[in-house]
Amino acid sequence: MLVDRGQPSKSRDSEAPCCFQTSGVQSCTLAGCWSYRHRFWHPISCRTSIQVTFPWKPGAGSRRCVVVVVASELCCWRPSVMDTRCFANPFCDYKGSLLPAQSIQTVVPIVLASVDKVLKKVPVDISDCDGGLYDGPAGVAYMLYHVSECPLFSDQRDLYLKTAKHIIDLSAECADAEPDKNMRAAFLLGGAGIYAVAAMIYKSLGLADFVKPLSRFRSLWEVCAPIRFLECGSDELFVGRAGYLCAALVLKQKLGIEILSKEQIKSICQAIIESGRQYARRKRKPFPLMYSYYGTEYLGAAHGLSSVLQMLLSYQDVLSGMERDLVWQSVDFLMNQEQNCNWPVELGAIIERENELVHWCHGAPGVAFLFAKAYLINKKPQYLDTCIRCGELVWQKGLLKKGPGICHGVAGSAYVFLLLYRLTGNSKYIYRAQRFAEFLFTEEFKTGSRSLTSFCSLFEGLSGTICFLVDLLQPDQAEFPLFSVFV
Ligand SMILES: [Zn+2]
Repeated sequence: MLVDRGQPSKSRDSEAPCCFQTSGVQSCTLAGCWSYRHRFWHPISCRTSIQVTFPWKPGAGSRRCVVVVVASELCCWRPSVMDTRCFANPFCDYKGSLLPAQSIQTVVPIVLASVDKVLKKVPVDISDCDGGLYDGPAGVAYMLYHVSECPLFSDQRDLYLKTAKHIIDLSAECADAEPDKNMRAAFLLGGAGIYAVAAMIYKSLGLADFVKPLSRFRSLWEVCAPIRFLECGSDELFVGRAGYLCAALVLKQKLGIEILSKEQIKSICQAIIESGRQYARRKRKPFPLMYSYYGTEYLGAAHGLSSVLQMLLSYQDVLSGMERDLVWQSVDFLMNQEQNCNWPVELGAIIERENELVHWCHGAPGVAFLFAKAYLINKKPQYLDTCIRCGELVWQKGLLKKGPGICHGVAGSAYVFLLLYRLTGNSKYIYRAQRFAEFLFTEEFKTGSRSLTSFCSLFEGLSGTICFLVDLLQPDQAEFPLFSVFV
């Protein structure tokens, strides 16, 4: 599991605190010794440096490695120049115990108070139903559904579900009235997501009527099957085919039934693959599948390659051997685009360390979910290692100044830790998520973060944060909202 990524250089204060700065090779200082020392950074423990000595004499043939473990505690090390997009992480790393202040007794009342705040502000009028799940009242309905599913909130379950139904009914009415059928097929910004969440809420209330929104959702597959159904780009997560597949995946998970037939899924996956092949060929890309959205070749989860590939992996059973090969080649291609634990917003861009985006929407916190899915399917350690490196970057630079949300806020960062906890079982990641939750309630965060324009929003506002706090109470089941990799 050793990865030669060098050691962090404490002396280079202007560098971001990534664990994996490249270090040079030092020759041994002992007189007469020809060995060279490399310092490796262990990707799992991260804070343990391991010194590896290569006895190496000129002309001595092949090298033999002697591994010497040198304990090196760099707790709380921070650079003097910090990224302007995030707060400096003030916390020491995990020392073997979780935070007692984050107990059920403390967090449940915080969740209840936060839900009350959202309910006081959420518009419940059909004229205010724009924004879909991402930004509209429908996202609040999903949050209420999510909280009501947690046994710790059983006393509030009926009230939350009834309120959720009221909100989602208005949202569905709004979606029904949408004249553009392509927008009705959109997941996070349109009707498909609203119908999906309506079916979940109805099912949870025990209403047989859940088949109505479900039928509306199912009927949309025909809309997004044609290869170029959207001018702006037909394949990404928010409005494109990957989103439709993602909604179907979450619905299958929550309702426990097949949502689309194998043939329907296959036709959508094939359209995604054909679209990506045509684009890559047309633009002379040196790899098999690529996409663009409004002319930009995004790589991250929001509109980019990573969530498209994540969906293709989620449905890889319907793909032919050749199609599967194309998908896995593309996964490995994207893995190779990593720059110091992160991915640029768009293909070919160079990341500026002091100004990099470490968001779920753009960057490592979203891309991590693709590699988690890849690891869950084939158990290859390089995919888990990639996720772990994402987590290290998020620990350093994930206390974002753009609010508490899940798209480009602190809760979105913390979901990477909950993902890593589920992949590794390592309690360190629960601890890190707890620290991020703690930070949300500090004065430093309240005064230093950008004010919220979408207070109630599932992705940018408090509703996503509430989902995160609930998931932190049940980390064995935690999943980024509506973006499951454990189906
Ligand atoms: Zn975002």
